[in-house]
Amino acid sequence: MNASTTDANELHHAQQQFIQKLYERNETTLPPEEILEQARNDIVTRLPDDGAGTHKTLINLDKLTKGFNNPILSSTYYGFVTGGVTPIASVADTACSVYDQNVQVHLPKETIATDIEYSTLKMLCQLLHLPIDTFTHRTFTTGATASNVLGLACGREYVISKAAERHSEDVSVGRDGLIGAMRKSRLDDIQILTTVPHSSLAKAASIVGLGRECIQLVGKDDVPYKFDLTKLQKLLRRPKTASIVVISCGEVNTGYFATDFADMQQIRHLCDEAGAFIHCDGAFGLMARCLQRSDDASKRHLQLDKLLEGCEGIELVDSITGDAHKLLNVPYDCGFFFSRRLHLATNVFRNAGAAYLNVATSNDDSENIPSPLNIGIENSRRFRALPVYASLVAYGRKGYAEMLLRQIRLAREIASCISKLKFLQLLPQESSNNFERVYIVVLFRAKDDNLNKQLVQRINRSRQIYVSGTSWDGAPAARIAISNWRVDVSTDAPRVENVLRDVYRSWMTE
Ligand SMILES: *Cc1c(COP(=O)(O)O)cnc(C)c1O
Repeated sequence: MNASTTDANELHHAQQQFIQKLYERNETTLPPEEILEQARNDIVTRLPDDGAGTHKTLINLDKLTKGFNNPILSSTYYGFVTGGVTPIASVADTACSVYDQNVQVHLPKETIATDIEYSTLKMLCQLLHLPIDTFTHRTFTTGATASNVLGLACGREYVISKAAERHSEDVSVGRDGLIGAMRKSRLDDIQILTTVPHSSLAKAASIVGLGRECIQLVGKDDVPYKFDLTKLQKLLRRPKTASIVVISCGEVNTGYFATDFADMQQIRHLCDEAGAFIHCDGAFGLMARCLQRSDDASKRHLQLDKLLEGCEGIELVDSITGDAHKLLNVPYDCGFFFSRRLHLATNVFRNAGAAYLNVATSNDDSENIPSPLNIGIENSRRFRALPVYASLVAYGRKGYAEMLLRQIRLAREIASCISKLKFLQLLPQESSNNFERVYIVVLFRAKDDNLNKQLVQRINRSRQIYVSGTSWDGAPAARIAISNWRVDVSTDAPRVENVLRDVYRSWMTE
């Protein structure tokens, strides 16, 4: 089929309509059930012999979009940490599809795609106050899960080769394989030591051959998301055992941080002693670092000091996971990964032996940009950097700081409202009168057990706001996670309060 002018006009019009939506707010979080059902019936389920053509396909697409949930256009969709999409990121994402650059090999004489990716990753370091000269291994991934896989793969390579050094052996998992490398370095075990991790850490542990069971929780008995440093020290000294320590920078249920600067200094010291590797999962928590040097007036106003303490010292870790499709508000799928050890990365990820992928190693006039295929999972890759680049350029440090401040302000406003509603309880309990540590997540439950069991479902049925269910201290809990660039404290906070009051009222009158 040829692309005719009519097709081009129609496609152009359709594109414009989609972009236009990004400037509108759509107040409904989920489509009504009957619309979902209708849209599901519009899915073409058999491959057509004759293609339907552009026009009919556009009509079909238009019908299908009615069956999508709405974390992007609604500012009150608080499920998971979905983020939104800034309009400029959406435009750049379209450019990314149109030009379809395959960012796997650095080809400075052919395209500037890798140069853009390289610059974008440096700008991200600047945004998050991470030293560029220290974190020399930088790459985009499909998300925080993939970044955690990279972190554990690099950690595995590091701790095993460290153990081998003690026996004057030269070992690389990338070369020798996990089994051979363990034998040569005379290790019985590898353990991952962490506090309340995201579920993807267990998945990553499985993928890199360490296994889900190797994760051990070393949280304090009364505050499970904080490190018990005595427990940690003891486990790090287990004989014939190598350790990867994982810092949850932003615990998933509460948004609270696992460490402060003093903790991080001590953990770094203990890990250096033990030859252990420190990985930080900062999927959404890392973003708080863009506020570190915000101007003092707003800092005082929002009382950010307690919160920011929690992401200080993250620069001391070996590797870091970040998500861009969350608080950076770019489209799926986009995460990033930083590590201090570029040579480890090439040990693990080097795509050796494909002559046709001959990598440009020297670039006369600029920095030596590593080819992405040698420092990450994929070979062929989407140009994920472009939407991040566009959004960073468009908003800058101040724009992103302002966006996050608005999200934090709204979270605290909602936390304060929940603490005043008699039928609800703000969690964790120590936070009930003190919102200084509230980041972008608000955790709560209904005091009445029966209502609590249905709380999430009843809230979401309103289609006015959407929250996720989770479990805390062995009982169900509801979680509000604020991550969309379009949040507006003055309209969103009252909306949440109204929905919560309505849920209670209707439950009481049943
Ligand atoms: C969301 C999240 C992940 C998983 O991220 P994906 O982008 O879904 O792969 C991992 N860790 C934390 C802390 C998260 O919040």
